[in-house]
Amino acid sequence: MGTDQFFLRYQPIFNLSDMTLIGVEALLRWNHPKKGLLQPDDFIPALEASGLILPVGRWVITEACQQGMAWRAMGHDVKMSINASARQLNAETLLDDVCFGLESTGFPPGLLIVEITETCLMRDAQSALHQLNALKSLGVRIAIDDFGTGYSSLAYLQQFPVDSLKIDRSFISGMGKSPEGDSLIHTLIQLGKALNLETLAEGIEEDGQLAQLRGEKCDVGQGYLFARPVAPEEIEQYFSRSTLTVLEGLVSSGASPVVPVYA
Ligand code: C2E
Ligand code: CA
Ligand code: CA
Repeated sequence: MGTDQFFLRYQPIFNLSDMTLIGVEALLRWNHPKKGLLQPDDFIPALEASGLILPVGRWVITEACQQGMAWRAMGHDVKMSINASARQLNAETLLDDVCFGLESTGFPPGLLIVEITETCLMRDAQSALHQLNALKSLGVRIAIDDFGTGYSSLAYLQQFPVDSLKIDRSFISGMGKSPEGDSLIHTLIQLGKALNLETLAEGIEEDGQLAQLRGEKCDVGQGYLFARPVAPEEIEQYFSRSTLTVLEGLVSSGASPVVPVYA
């Protein structure tokens, strides 16, 4: 099996203070010849188990960097986040894959963000620390994905050369429902600030959540309220500042987002 059955969708990521687009997350899809379009939760575990995640993961990085370069050619520097799997980290091929992606496309390392889940990082923290340092030396940025769902050692968190915390969407969906849910999100954002890390909220679906996150001074956000993962051509509408101004107006007035939502 080659990588030609795979393609990437991109979900926009916004600066919550002015609602401008600052980046996208590349999300893998599989166009299976018999089963049709498959979502990652349905096939990533099998790719991990078989080891196929290694060639596919390498393809993801290069493809995403190539797309980032296409947007640069249109005059837009968009940060590109890619997901790295536990297997890539364990096989120690991640560094090679990232080097290859950057060198073969010319994408600037400072615009690439490698997302690694908290669980994966903490499983073998010593080896992860070594790999993260090597990645950082390339100039790429590192985000801890699904933050709050694993068991982070605060001592490691301080040592890891990470740039941002992606607060898991379970905490966002728990906002506004109980005082405990609100305190938790407050505490997670404050933890990020105490460690001098960018805070990103995933899975923002409601304007009440957005308002609360902006009140907490959470830096960055993504979620269905703004946009689902879309084809690369659909991202271009978010480059225009005017669309975002309209989006912001509608969001703050409680109406539905103006930007069309794609499946
Ligand atoms: P993730 O890294 O946490 O990615 C975010 C997931 O949340 C995406 O699901 C996205 O579509 C979904 N999402 C975004 N906003 C919302 C929202 O407002 N509400 C809800 N309910 N969901 C939202 P997706 O694309 O199905 O990906 C699922 C997971 O598969 C990802 O979770 C990531 O762990 C993994 N994955 C995706 N692409 C890759 C890849 O290229 N490599 C690896 N190793 N894993 C990948
Ligand atoms: Ca992710
Ligand atoms: Ca996540």
